[in-house]
This record gives sequence, C-alpha cells and structure tokens, in this order.
Amino acid sequence: MQSRSRRRRPAASRTLAGSIVAVTLVIGAASGLMVMQMRRSAWDQVGRVSQNLLESVEHMVDRNIELYDLSLQAVVDGLRNPWADGLAPDLRQLVLFDRAATANGLGAILALDTQGQAFADSTALVPRPLSFPDADFFLVHRARDDAGLYIGKPLRMAPDGRWVIPLSRRLAYADGAFAGIVVGTIDIGYFNALFGRLSLGEQSRIAFFRESGEILVRSPVMESAIGRSLTSAPHFPRFFERRAGQFVATGYTEAIEGLFTYSRIGDRPLVATVVVPTAAIAELWRPRAMAIVVLVSVLCGGMIVLTLVLQRELERRGLAEERALAANHDLARLAHTDGLTGLPNRRHFDEAFTRAREQAARDGTPLALVLLDADRFKRYNDTYGHLAGDEVLRAVARVLQRQVREPEETACRIGGEEFAVLLPGASGREAVGRAERIRQALARLQIPHIGNEGGIVTLSLGVAEARPGETAGQCFSAADVALYEAKRRGRNQVQERDQAVGLDAKTAQVA
Ligand code: GH3
Ligand code: MG
Ligand code: MG
Repeated sequence: MQSRSRRRRPAASRTLAGSIVAVTLVIGAASGLMVMQMRRSAWDQVGRVSQNLLESVEHMVDRNIELYDLSLQAVVDGLRNPWADGLAPDLRQLVLFDRAATANGLGAILALDTQGQAFADSTALVPRPLSFPDADFFLVHRARDDAGLYIGKPLRMAPDGRWVIPLSRRLAYADGAFAGIVVGTIDIGYFNALFGRLSLGEQSRIAFFRESGEILVRSPVMESAIGRSLTSAPHFPRFFERRAGQFVATGYTEAIEGLFTYSRIGDRPLVATVVVPTAAIAELWRPRAMAIVVLVSVLCGGMIVLTLVLQRELERRGLAEERALAANHDLARLAHTDGLTGLPNRRHFDEAFTRAREQAARDGTPLALVLLDADRFKRYNDTYGHLAGDEVLRAVARVLQRQVREPEETACRIGGEEFAVLLPGASGREAVGRAERIRQALARLQIPHIGNEGGIVTLSLGVAEARPGETAGQCFSAADVALYEAKRRGRNQVQERDQAVGLDAKTAQVA
C-alpha cells in the first residue's frame, strides 16, 4: 500500500506540472501571436496612410507641372505665330505671356535664342540680359528635338538664391531646326508650402526627385538635401522595380531606417516618396505589446507559483496519508501480534485458519492443524519464576519460527503456553512428521525443568487434518482431543486425531 501511494504521488504532481507547462505555453503562444498581429496591423495602417498621402503628393505635383506647362506651351505657340514678330512690343508681350500662370511660386518665363540668350521675358518688355548657354535645360533641347517638357536640375536663382526647378520646352523653325527654348521655374518653397498642408506625421518625410537621382523637394525643408544625387544610395534601384511600391531601408539624407512608399509622378521622370521611420511605427504597437507581455508574464508566473504551492500541498498530504496508512498498518499488525513472543496471536490464527480452510476447499488440497502445549508449565513458573517462564515461551516461539515455512505456513501463540501451527497442503501423516520435528527441536534445547518428566522443557502436540464438511471448531476440537491424549499418555509426544481416538478406544478396552 505504501509503495503504491509513493508511485501515485509523483505521477499526480507530474500531470499537474505538465498541464501547467502546457497551459503556459499556449498562453505564451497566443500572446505572441497577438503581439505579432498588433505589429502587422500597425505596419499595415502606416502603409495605407502613406499610400494615401503619396497619392495627394503625386496629384499636387503633377497638376502644378501640367498647369505651368500650359503657360510654357502658350509661349511656344505665340512665338511660332509668324505675325507675332510684327506686333508692337507691349502687344507682343500680351500675346506671348497672357496665359502665363501667375500663382505665387511660379516664376518668370523666358524665351532663349539658339545661343541661350534671353529674347523675351514675361516680367519685362525689354528682356533682362540673361543667358544660360551651359544649362542642362538648354543643352538638352539643342541636342534633341523629342525632349518635350524637360524638368531640369534644381538651381539657385539670383538675386536671393532661392531654389527653383526649371521647366523648358523646345522652340523650332518651320523646318524643325533648333530655334531656342522657352523656360520657366517653379519655386521649391512653393511645393514645401503645398506639402505643409498635408497632415504629415511629425517624423515622416515627403520628397520627390528626378529619375536621374537629384532631389528636387524634401519636406520638412532640408536645404542641404536639394540637388543632391540619390544614385549612390543602396536602395536607389528599388524605386524603379515597379511604378509604385513599398520597402524598408535606411534613409539617405538621414541615416534612419524607415518604411519607404514610392510612386512615379504621372508619366513624368519624377519619383515621389513618403518615408515613415520604423521607430515611429514601433511607437504605435510596442507600448501596448509590452503591456501584454508584462501582463502575460505576471499571469504565467503566478500560475507557476500557484502550481508549485499546490504541488507542495499535494505532496504534504500524500506524505501525511502515507504516515497514517503506515500507522494503521502498524496498529493492525499489533492487533494481530502477540506481545511476548512476536508470533501472530489468537485473533490472527482464527482468521488465518478460516482463510486456509477456504483455500484448501477451493484447491481440493489437504490442510493440517497442530496444537502444542508446554508440559507442566505451571510448575516451571513455580520453580523458576514467571520471567523465566516467559523466556521459555520465547524459546518455543523461536523454534516454531524456524520450523514453519512462511508465508504458506503459520505458527501462532493462541493462549498462555499453547501454540498452533497451520500446515496447508499437509496430510495428517505429514503433519505428524512435522510436529515430531518441532517436538525434537525444542527437546534439543535441553532447557532444564526439574518438575517435568525427563528434567527438560517438553511439548505435547495434537494433530488433525481438516475434513470436508466439518467446521473449524470441529477440526480444532479434534486436534485438542489429540493433544489431550498426548498429555494423558505421558506428555512429550505427538498424537493424531483418529489414532488418538482409536488408541483411546483400544486403551479403554484394555482397561
Ligand atoms: P500440563 O502439562 O498438563 O499442561 O500442565 P501445565 O502446568 O502446563 O498446565 P496448566 O494449564 O495447569 O498451567 C498452565 C500454566 O501456564 C499456568 C500459568 O502459570 C502458565 N502461564 C500461562 N501464561 C503464561 C505466561 O504468559 N507466562 C508465564 N511465565 N507463564 C504462563
Ligand atoms: Mg495448557
Ligand atoms: Mg501445559
């Protein structure tokens, strides 16, 4: 019983610990998924907002360039008109620049001749003495006739050094030969003011640049970035993988990692981009995620602590239960044990006798009972004292313990100086042999007993083989009669039930 509960206790603890570990893992995995979900939705949200913002930027830039181009085209058309040359200067000025856009930030429009020299100026009847023979927006049209609207590299305008973006169109003679260009500028500050109206997050950036890499506009304003070429940025080629897209990279004007959303502006050789720093995106989900992680950790930690406490309690109870069982077991054993000799007592004998008889009946095997009684024991006590008598009883017990084969066979002290031995499987005859050996074993001890015949402590023994149909009491009585017969015949001997009766009858006859 003890060993069974010892096995059960760790198993219960293990099951408990196992299920808690499983639950903790499940909760951990679920919160991990939740945190990942939060991160993904923050990135998705920023991605969508960036796309919307970029659409506005693209639309604004495209629309403004288109409007300004209309003004340039009007000048080109005017100059192509053969009769415009013959007009009075103020009338000619009106015809040429009437349709010129006049919004703030949209600069003067000039017509340059084949040498790059200004010959018409939207701001003055007599053109200012300006010339741009080496400017890219001039050279491109001289070299090619298919450049269309050319968006040039940004440049600083005299006298205040404002950054502007030049836009130019080609002038041609009737035969298509180069006749000069029409050029106008858009103030970069104008775009910055437009972008300023967009609700841009504090840390986000808007920019657009030429396909060839030069940054035209960067908002919030960063003077040093204008005109710089992006071509050496590692992520530069990625802007051209598709017409529009998103990627994560480290910025060029500031070395900060961010989500880049980019798109080509209309069908122009320009790319617009919105950048949101990764750190700003993390701010959207990380504080909440941290709260969840802390909460879940505390929860799981608490659960583990509780489990440990519970486990300890279970173990403590198991131990107490075990001790109680052991105590019960000891009590039960004591209740069945004789205090003087340590042999099983009369109560145990009765139970063992009943069990043995049932077993023998089931198996169809014999069962023999031997009753033993110390001879002239009263005298022994009288001669040697009660304590010495006790010692003799212990000696008898030791002899019995050596002679019986436990656990099949049982020796008990059933009363004062009386003992019994149960021999399952033994016939009457075999039991007589075993009884005889017991008698001799005690006699061999040669314990002095002057009041007994022979001068030593001896035993008388009665043997009875249980018979089918008889009660335990009847069998016991038969053995007792045989014992009485042994006494009667002079003690220190073995008698078997039938022989005893038979002999008794014979003796009676003789008598
Ligand atoms: P018999 O040979 O006919 O059996 O004679 P006996 O003296 O042994 O028989 P009786 O039944 O008259 O006496 C039994 C004695 O056993 C009485 C008692 O003093 C003694 N006795 C019983 N129990 C104990 C015990 O626990 N210790 C001791 N020392 N003596 C005991
Ligand atoms: Mg007796
Ligand atoms: Mg006796």
